[in-house]
Amino acid sequence: MGKVDVENSKRITRRTNGNNPYSPLFMERMTPKAKWYFFMRAKVLPAQRDAEVNPRAKATRDIWVDSPLIKEMATELGADIVGIAKYTPSIMYQDAKILEHKSVIVFGKAMKYDLMVDIGAESQEEVHRAYFELDELGVRLSQRIGAMGFEARTHPNSGDFPLPAYGYLAGLGEVAKHGSLVSPVLGSSFRLSAVSTEMPLEADGPSDYGMDELCTKCGICERFCPGQAIMPEKREKAGIVRWHVDSDKCQPFFSRLYGCKICLSVCPLTARAPELRANYKKMSKSIKEAKNADGMIKMINDKDSLNLENFDKIPYDPNDFGGEFIQEAREKQDREGRDIEDSPIIYKPEE
Ligand code: SF4
Ligand code: SF4
Repeated sequence: MGKVDVENSKRITRRTNGNNPYSPLFMERMTPKAKWYFFMRAKVLPAQRDAEVNPRAKATRDIWVDSPLIKEMATELGADIVGIAKYTPSIMYQDAKILEHKSVIVFGKAMKYDLMVDIGAESQEEVHRAYFELDELGVRLSQRIGAMGFEARTHPNSGDFPLPAYGYLAGLGEVAKHGSLVSPVLGSSFRLSAVSTEMPLEADGPSDYGMDELCTKCGICERFCPGQAIMPEKREKAGIVRWHVDSDKCQPFFSRLYGCKICLSVCPLTARAPELRANYKKMSKSIKEAKNADGMIKMINDKDSLNLENFDKIPYDPNDFGGEFIQEAREKQDREGRDIEDSPIIYKPEE
């Protein structure tokens, strides 16, 4: 991706965590606050995600069909970015129920970049904070649209569709090499959620920000991924030629590194967000110093802040992190001789 070819896409099968041997440990190591966010999202908010439609509003509901008004409402409820996409069943998961909806309001909240790059328990908590607040925002927005007389449903992360694809269709950014959406406003430091509705709203996107071309030339996330999970070239999947992240290779690192996020942390497009630029500048020094995935893992392990409690329960050896994948990575780097300095990084730390 980069661009999502809606015409040719086929509905994809959802990945589940069922076979992930690290899942229980991943949950166990969450901070109490992260567990609370998780509990709210798993047990409390689902009951409110389908809005109750106000029958008395049916006769007058058309006065609410106003795209700028709905986006303003999402912003007032706490969204940092908002866009609208056409409801598109062809990009929904195979097991998702197709609704008679017409529009999808996609919204995002910034992640606190200094917490995200911690790659420890705090960064995991920050992800759960962002998803909880987005989920709650979605529920409140859905309920308001229901009160206006229209069906509406909240689609949180792990809902009915891949959020990056809908984010692209809503004009919020482009799907990047690391598999997440990159935004011209927030770079790679944010999370997404969505509300679909039968309200016929005007779609904003997709838009071409030129980021796809940057990913083609950059490759920093690919270089710093400890699992060698980020593929250098696009591949065809479900009818779409797209960037590809190998989930099986990502999973062990994702679980052991509190949700990892190294790929998002190193992405230089984050420096485009004015309020994140100073923090990215600090990160860029670490990127230069670390040089590659091995160096970054060493840096993370050396940090005092990393909570290593329970780490011994994980099949993990810091000298052989990722075993065969790291070996592959080393060989590849030796073969290609590519260095961070060679990447056409669009933000220079010296500037
Ligand atoms: S690090 Fe580079 S290649 Fe990866 S997503 Fe960001 S811009 Fe694209
Ligand atoms: S989360 Fe970590 S292991 Fe997974 S793709 Fe990103 S950098 Fe690689």
